[in-house]
Amino acid sequence: MPDMVQGHAKPTILVVEDEAPLITLLRYNLEKQGFRVEEAADGQEALLRVAEARPDLVLLDWMLPALSGIEVCRQLRRKPATRDLPIIMVTARTEDQDAVRALDTGADDYIAKPFAMDSLLARIRALLRRSGSIATKGTLSYLDITMDQDAHRVTRAGRALHLGPTEYRMLEFFLQNPGRVFSREQLLDAVWGRDIHVEPRTVDVHIRRLRKAINVEGGADVIRTVRSAGYALDQDGD
Ligand code: CA
Repeated sequence: MPDMVQGHAKPTILVVEDEAPLITLLRYNLEKQGFRVEEAADGQEALLRVAEARPDLVLLDWMLPALSGIEVCRQLRRKPATRDLPIIMVTARTEDQDAVRALDTGADDYIAKPFAMDSLLARIRALLRRSGSIATKGTLSYLDITMDQDAHRVTRAGRALHLGPTEYRMLEFFLQNPGRVFSREQLLDAVWGRDIHVEPRTVDVHIRRLRKAINVEGGADVIRTVRSAGYALDQDGD
């Protein structure tokens, strides 16, 4: 199934909902997509479950007994530990005003009942990708460096890096093999290809450019030079 969640750890979704049949339906669909599901039937329980289960995302019904979804959202946003916890608010109403209110309170997204399951799942996945809980198919990362292979974009600590095509391919190869030391010849084969004749010293030039491009503004050097052996992507840099 192409939409299955990639990666080893299953992201946990806390479903806060007081309608039992809807919880059953959500659990079935979320588990089928590879998520772990926790549940809470009212607002007070939701706050407890968040603290205990440490979910990756909360699907939060607006109309709840004990404490409304809006109030739960407000309280979660007030605490440092849950300030950035992804929250999708589920409203029973369709007025735009409610959507605005949900977002103002700190929800990351909202969906109105009745919703199509596909649409909800797409929103959950999009939000989990943005928060980094699930990786996109073409994403490589090392420490604070992220390469989006689909969009051909590289960021460090969230800021865009500008790499030439050779530096891009070199970084891609390093990201696929973090910590491993490669000789200049191995890098030539991997980046330029076996059939192209390039002076081994050319590798040094591109390593220098790559370093310059990724070691911006005080970021630690992540390219390690191993004397008479080669280079590695390694947080202990130079
Ligand atoms: Ca409800």
